[in-house]
Amino acid sequence: MVSVTTLTSYLYCPRKLFLERVEGYVEIPRGVLVKGAVKHRVFDELTSSEEQLISSLKKSFDWDTTFEQYKSYFSRILRRAVLKSAKQIKMAQLNPMAVFNEFQLFFSKEAETRARYVFDFMQKNKIDGSELWSQLVPKIKSEYKVSSQVLDLSGKIDRVEVYPEQLIPIEIKSGNPPREGAWENHKVQLAAYALLLEDKFGIKVSEGVIHYVDANQKIDVSINPFLREQVKELIKNVKLLFKSRKIPPIAENKNKCAVCGLRKKCHSLVTDEKQNI
Ligand code: SF4
Repeated sequence: MVSVTTLTSYLYCPRKLFLERVEGYVEIPRGVLVKGAVKHRVFDELTSSEEQLISSLKKSFDWDTTFEQYKSYFSRILRRAVLKSAKQIKMAQLNPMAVFNEFQLFFSKEAETRARYVFDFMQKNKIDGSELWSQLVPKIKSEYKVSSQVLDLSGKIDRVEVYPEQLIPIEIKSGNPPREGAWENHKVQLAAYALLLEDKFGIKVSEGVIHYVDANQKIDVSINPFLREQVKELIKNVKLLFKSRKIPPIAENKNKCAVCGLRKKCHSLVTDEKQNI
């Protein structure tokens, strides 16, 4: 079964995917990837343990108290995520304290957004504790694993917003979006998740969201027929690549090579390939 991340890796560079998955080369962790992994870890823990926090909130709380609860909850989780990733952070030659400080402001804003939503919901419906948790919409599932025999595809979705009759997949990305919309490979990834959710739950998933956390922008993406077709085409291409014994050519876009952790190995193979022609 093909994973969704291999589809996006293929879109980035088929040669890199071949080197990693067929030849078994491993990319050295880069700072940007390690920081992205810390963010993912925080989001994952936030959503999986939010029930406990929400159940402890009281409708008598004012805004400042609610926000304070959320802020310290987010901060604790961030600290834990940095500690758990300490080894990778050091391997990428980053300072754990600097990573913590860099993310603190960002997660403080995230805490404010979520606290505001929960606070308003609590005030409007005049409920708290476990009743608040059971009625709060949307519920959020994070790192949600889903697979489909029909599509021969599997994936782990960063977040899924669950409404009574709707599911919205959300992909969390580091870095900035393009001037308009979202990057193509991110849209394809989201479409792949939409297809997986549709297959599992038998409902139409017609939109998703890409959250560019560094830029604090959420981009709505329509899961159109073109994206759906692209996903199916990519699944076929990845399977063919995995069966192939022929290394794909160097990427045309040299900017990709400039930030690629396999650059040395990849470019050193070019000489051998020329000799074998
Ligand atoms: S160096 Fe360039 S061509 Fe080689 S694997 Fe990396 S991105 Fe692909």
